[in-house]
Amino acid sequence: MTQRKYRPETRLVQSSILRSQFGETSEALFLTQGYVYENSAQAEARFKGESPGFQYSRFGNPTVRMFEQRMADFEGAEDARATATGMAAVTLALMGQVRAGDHIVSSRALFGSCLYVVEELLPRFGVTSTLVDGTDLNQWKNAVRPNTKTFFMETPSNPTLEVIDIAAVAKIAHEAGATVTVDNVFSTPLWQSPLALGADCVVYSTTKHIDGQGRCLGGVVLGSNKFIQDNIHNLHRQTGPSMSPFNAWVMLKGLETLAVRVRRQTDSAAAVAVALHNHPKISRLIYPGRPDHPQAEIIQRQMKGGSTLVAFEVKGGKDAAFRVQDALQLVRISNNLGDAKSLITHPATTTHQRITPQARADLGISDGFLRLSVGLEHPDDIMEDLLAALDKA
Ligand SMILES: *Cc1c(COP(=O)(O)O)cnc(C)c1O
Repeated sequence: MTQRKYRPETRLVQSSILRSQFGETSEALFLTQGYVYENSAQAEARFKGESPGFQYSRFGNPTVRMFEQRMADFEGAEDARATATGMAAVTLALMGQVRAGDHIVSSRALFGSCLYVVEELLPRFGVTSTLVDGTDLNQWKNAVRPNTKTFFMETPSNPTLEVIDIAAVAKIAHEAGATVTVDNVFSTPLWQSPLALGADCVVYSTTKHIDGQGRCLGGVVLGSNKFIQDNIHNLHRQTGPSMSPFNAWVMLKGLETLAVRVRRQTDSAAAVAVALHNHPKISRLIYPGRPDHPQAEIIQRQMKGGSTLVAFEVKGGKDAAFRVQDALQLVRISNNLGDAKSLITHPATTTHQRITPQARADLGISDGFLRLSVGLEHPDDIMEDLLAALDKA
């Protein structure tokens, strides 16, 4: 199943195929809730865990298993569990590691719903948290308590594309006896491998680049066999955040083209960053991969590629940002990212609308700030659309 002798792009297409007796070329879609047994003894053995095979699709399904194994293989993890959404993956990964009385340290620059899990949901069950500026190693160090169980971070972060030094944070966590959980959505498994940098758990919203064509929601939690068995396995089986076989099949097809798409989108995003850099209507541009990125040195060490996203601040605040968005003809206004279609969002009035103006300012999300997810269109068309819209700012 695991064909490590092949290069990553090959494994994205060929690894972990569970072929049926028909010898199909493409991964089969097993739309089944359950499985039949040859006889009573086999049913008994399977429930005892003594005979390999599937029992019920909440626990496991061949199509879902192919997706989990291919993801684990590509990520360099020993095991994985697929979930219905990215948020189910984040919730599972964090809930699975803590008990009442425990503490989490988390970077402040988080996806809105992740912030809800850390700040509102976990405290209901007696799990406290400390939010830190993820780029400041001293803040991670000083936030540690005797009951700290995991460090949670997103890097590059949404929407300001700030980058955290995973290896350095992992060292602090491990010295404190805590694990490291990384939401790796923005870098994709192609450009950053948190487990190789010392993380214990990686989560994805596969809704983003892994589907990459705007069709299905999904998520995945990855780690060592021991990590998955100790923290994730039972919670996943018994509480039911499982991914549907249909969505797993779409995600498998997404993985086949992931490397091609993400490379192309990254190249186009880098070209857009060059085209918009020093534009008279833009006061700030952030692109991981540019030498003027605040964490350029960490990016050089930690990431194998840049980003499919570009963030920039238009001069003239909200009105100017709205004029730019509304003047775009090809790039569409939408809060999704990693899609084949280029999408732009104004975080201050959408994804980060609910947090206070002070919290937005602390995160660097000004009223003129826009986040662009670069798609698979011809890069010149994307750039021409952006430049024409900026004229209207
Ligand atoms: C989208 C996203 C999520 C949540 O994923 P869903 O599939 O929408 O549930 C979590 N973290 C990050 C960084 C995301 O971009």
